Amino acid sequence: MRSKVRAIWASPGFKFERHQSLLTLLMLMKSDPSASAVTATDQGVPLSVKIRERIVAARRRFNANDNIADFIEPGEFEELLNEVAGKMQGVLESLVIDTENDHNTQDTARRVAKMYIQEVFKGRYVKAPTITEFPNAEHLNELMIVGPIRVRSACSHHFCPVIGQVWIGVMPNERTNVIGLSKYARLAEWVMGRPQIQEEAVVQLADLIQEKTQPDGLAIVMEATHFCMGWRGVKDLDSKMINSVMRGVFLKDPNLRREFLSLIPKKTSD
Ligand SMILES: [Zn+2]
Repeated sequence: MRSKVRAIWASPGFKFERHQSLLTLLMLMKSDPSASAVTATDQGVPLSVKIRERIVAARRRFNANDNIADFIEPGEFEELLNEVAGKMQGVLESLVIDTENDHNTQDTARRVAKMYIQEVFKGRYVKAPTITEFPNAEHLNELMIVGPIRVRSACSHHFCPVIGQVWIGVMPNERTNVIGLSKYARLAEWVMGRPQIQEEAVVQLADLIQEKTQPDGLAIVMEATHFCMGWRGVKDLDSKMINSVMRGVFLKDPNLRREFLSLIPKKTSD
């Protein structure tokens, strides 16, 4: 499937760099790659290593923004959470924080582990939301726009929040399946609930909606504030990243594209 992605950093002159940050310490959470040689039946093998073996055996990818729910058994979430909490505790120790005596950080490792697995990165660990699709009984063939949908994510580079809005334009045809308006938000939440790169996030969301609805055209615009630019780095909270994906008739028909873009209210997020 061909897609055209346009990415603009709204702040002029801003140059994106793949910088290392303090949060690179989170890399400590990565298991030793040599450990993956151990078989899954071995005792004492971290659960993450077993899950990784299953993914590798299935020849699937496990990048930060991939969903790996198919490789985790329902009973394993608690064990995975315990493992992340243990390694997060190691990060705090390496940051020389006295978690024993500092009441503020006593449970931070577990809180962060829970936040990652059960909240902000849940979209990696749970299966896609079930979406009921209906045939297009009314034969709708008018441009439909859904938005703004509030989206929350984190960048894969720094694990800093990415907060923004998404607009979705759908050009249905007679064979297009119809899904309820709120379902677009649930699909977006699932895709954004992973460490993401904005350009890849919109493509993943487009692929998902395309697969569910098979429209003649699909357009997605995302505008977001990246906290790795506000909290650190250039420390500019005003610049936003805007990008779009246009497919099908939105690619071929400039008038339709213009109509979609003109119907999106002037962006006012954050
Ligand atoms: Zn970042």
